[in-house]
Amino acid sequence: MPAPAAAAHAKLGRMDAIHRLAARLRRARHILVLTGAGISAESGIATFRDAQDGLWARFRPEDLATPEAFRRDPALVWRWYAWRREQVAAAQPNAAHRALVELAQRRPTTLVTQNVDDLHQRAGSTDAICLHGSIMRSICSVTRLEISADWLAAQTGEPPRSPHHADGLARPGVVWFGENLPADALERAAAAARDCDAVLAIGTSALVYPAAGLPALAQRHGAWFAEINPQPTPLTATADLVVAQAAGLALPAALAAWEDP
Ligand code: NAD
Repeated sequence: MPAPAAAAHAKLGRMDAIHRLAARLRRARHILVLTGAGISAESGIATFRDAQDGLWARFRPEDLATPEAFRRDPALVWRWYAWRREQVAAAQPNAAHRALVELAQRRPTTLVTQNVDDLHQRAGSTDAICLHGSIMRSICSVTRLEISADWLAAQTGEPPRSPHHADGLARPGVVWFGENLPADALERAAAAARDCDAVLAIGTSALVYPAAGLPALAQRHGAWFAEINPQPTPLTATADLVVAQAAGLALPAALAAWEDP
């Protein structure tokens, strides 16, 4: 238990960080927000680096989210994604997702996410740039064309066959480790990084590139950089401000402090 003075100091430190965040965002011309799995943690969706429970305890998520894993055992990968899709469908956007909708109403904001869930969209951020695709969609393993839900519902295979190619299977519409990001999404994200004057990295371990390089790109173009993450990351030392709190607390608090002097 910390001494009361130390606890008070820690509390003051956190509030001070929130006020600094609010003050800087309030005078921003264009904010770039980069989110990762941590922003959905408070909605009950596991991050990759959280310990895995139960059924999937034997697997490392990173080992299932690769083209090699799908080639080796497509049924295993399909079932893992089906399980994750169910988790996402049952989850709700949290206070952090909602706060980003409100932030965009207050200041021009470009939202770039590494998340494959649809919680930003369901919260109301309909124009989020999705660097890693969407777990709610399925695509053909050969042509990458989207496969309709109606087709999938009528199939029995795990994974189902693709309607687009004789050798194709349905696969999740996400970008796996080792695959290229969609070029247009990456270019729009990079353009926003070059243009913005404030960049926020929220709930990302900043280990997955090129997404993790966006804050540095923005900084090279003169942007101020804040990180919101309870744990340090490789970007922490480069941030102008670190808010070491859960996003669901920090973002609403920053909006509430908006008008404070
Ligand atoms: P990550 O799992 O590597 O890291 C999550 C980060 O979030 C950690 O740094 C952790 O400290 C932080 N965090 C945890 N709880 C938080 C909270 N309440 N508030 C703020 N921060 C919190 O995630 P990543 O950096 O996004 O990279 C992993 C890859 O995995 C991405 O490519 C992503 O597509 C994928 N992924 C997505 C989801 C999703 O869509 N929800 C879930 C798991 C993994």
